[in-house]
Amino acid sequence: MFVPLLPPETPAAATAGDPGTKAVTDWHASMRNALRSTYDLLRFVGLEHDIAQEVDHGFPVFVPLEYARRMRRGDADDPLLRQVLPVAAEGETVPGFISDPVGDHDAMVTSGLIQKYDGRALMITTGACGVHCRYCFRRSFPYSESAGLSDQFDHALEAIEQNKGLDEVLLSGGDPLTLNDVILDRLLDRLESVPHLRRVRFHTRMPIVIPSRVSAGLVERLRSSRLTCWFVVHCNHANELDEETAAGLAKLIDAGVPVLNQAVLLRGVNDQEEALVALMRRLVDLRVQPYYLHQLDRVSGAAHFEVSPARGSQLMQTLHSRLPGYAVPRYVREIAGCESKTPITDSNSL
Ligand SMILES: *Cc1c(COP(=O)(O)O)cnc(C)c1O
Ligand code: SF4
Repeated sequence: MFVPLLPPETPAAATAGDPGTKAVTDWHASMRNALRSTYDLLRFVGLEHDIAQEVDHGFPVFVPLEYARRMRRGDADDPLLRQVLPVAAEGETVPGFISDPVGDHDAMVTSGLIQKYDGRALMITTGACGVHCRYCFRRSFPYSESAGLSDQFDHALEAIEQNKGLDEVLLSGGDPLTLNDVILDRLLDRLESVPHLRRVRFHTRMPIVIPSRVSAGLVERLRSSRLTCWFVVHCNHANELDEETAAGLAKLIDAGVPVLNQAVLLRGVNDQEEALVALMRRLVDLRVQPYYLHQLDRVSGAAHFEVSPARGSQLMQTLHSRLPGYAVPRYVREIAGCESKTPITDSNSL
């Protein structure tokens, strides 16, 4: 279960006299003003209320206005709307769809730190996100028991300090960029002081859903870090990449931060050849490298988003035939207990 989304307050000291003040207050305002009910979301996009239930299946609606503005008005099939609108199918129990499909519980090293793969570990920095995606595998993850919320990262940091085999830490959640700049700065300070770390990787959807989060202050902090910073953003459809989003991504890339994208293959969102080709083209136009195309994790409530691996492989073949090699992501699934993400190929797709 996600922790309640109360946007962190920005301490006065962090904003006073800062030329980036406007951007800082803007993204906090975006969090505060986000749409928080099916009713408000449907009204915002000009749709009748009765096409969906008000029930949120224990995972509340949370959609920032700047994201909702990119949806087509009056279109119940809009690919962005589909990612965030609760539907009755979420309430169905489907065999094989469970609450922790990727084995995060078993891979928990300590409170707030998950290590599954060699050399890198993932920190759950917060339970909050800048948008609630209905297909998310973390929708039923017990954050309140595991996350070192806000600035209480001590257990995770101690484990990182002791494990000299790590050279990279992934900041995830939830979304690490829902933490304010003061808390992030403190976290980076502590990671920078761990001698064996070389890189920090942000797994975040904030630059896509709330582009103003890529503030001048944040970019400067990343640029000046001793650690090499990488970004993995999460965008599933070309319509998510409007001009503001493009400008935010450009700020990161211009500052020397490589930006990769991961997408999830989603029925009714991006499971058509044209949608995927358009997404990959738009990403590489913006200098963002397509990294992973994920097979949906089989989390309860998300079965209606599933696309078969056979169909996914077919789509991958089209991507290979139509796009330059660097624009083609790796099609993978996560299998609990495996030592990396597992590539899906024609031969193992059935
Ligand atoms: C997906 C994942 C990673 C990152 O894997 P890469 O292949 O390096 O992108 C790291 N840790 C955990 C726990 C993950 O789930
Ligand atoms: S932003 Fe990421 S972690 Fe948050 S709900 Fe969406 S997919 Fe899940």
